[in-house]
Amino acid sequence: MVATPIGNRGDISARAVSVLQSVDLIAAEDTRHSARLMSHFQITTPLVAYHDHGHEAQGERIFAALDEGQDVALISDAGTPLVSDPGFRLVRSARERAYKVIPLPGACAAITALSAAGLPSDRFCFEGFLPAKQSQRRKTLDLLVKETRTMIFYEAPHRIIAAVEDLLEVFGAEREATLARELTKTYETVLNGNLSELLAQIKNDINQQKGEMVVVVRGFDGEVQSAQEHEEERVLKLLLADLPVKQAASLAAKICGGQRNSLYKKALDLKQTEK
Ligand code: SAM
Repeated sequence: MVATPIGNRGDISARAVSVLQSVDLIAAEDTRHSARLMSHFQITTPLVAYHDHGHEAQGERIFAALDEGQDVALISDAGTPLVSDPGFRLVRSARERAYKVIPLPGACAAITALSAAGLPSDRFCFEGFLPAKQSQRRKTLDLLVKETRTMIFYEAPHRIIAAVEDLLEVFGAEREATLARELTKTYETVLNGNLSELLAQIKNDINQQKGEMVVVVRGFDGEVQSAQEHEEERVLKLLLADLPVKQAASLAAKICGGQRNSLYKKALDLKQTEK
């Protein structure tokens, strides 16, 4: 598994060049795209196409080579294979067939963006691409609303405004975030701010709507509710829409199995924040 640059060719490792030169076959996501990188480094190893969705047929060609004792490298169009890129099924099958899988580390847009974001990096999660459809995207973000780790998203340029609008809607305007664009390339920019500032900067500058981009969002730093507390709040909100506080609290206690007194207090708080 060989990582390749995410833009700047100087980021390829010496080991990656040497391995790509010495293997018998290179499996690549897009052979025409990778041929340019190979020619730059004077690597003449034959290239063969590989996608996870074509795994059955393309995988067989790769395993035929491995079965003959050949060495095969997997690369993707950019960065680390398997990170929002093909390779998962191939690695799994290779392991099942007891082939040795050797990772060669290198560029990865998610980690590169994180390293420049200035957001907490001791704990983070990679969310890949958000769904393209708004309803699905909102559902995905709703599930992340109390995520305390820094979150990393890949995004397509034509969806960046819609995606940041949804991030703002779900996480709130004050949540800190970073937009890292065109990393390691000529027009690299890294914008910081809260989501509302970030959205304004993207809308005001057409260049921020172009190229390859990563969005990094600070995790939730408020109080995290347990599943029980979350359910109690959900039920209370529904009941409070039609019932007085005391009755809503008493019914919620029966439905959720919680303490009537604490639910009464919570119902009062909810009524108060409604005002
Ligand atoms: N395997 C790659 C990696 O290790 O980062 C990611 C491949 S994924 C198909 C492509 C996405 O990665 C882009 O749409 C963008 O979100 C992000 N990306 C790749 N190169 C980038 C760069 N130079 N600057 C910012 N984001 C980049």
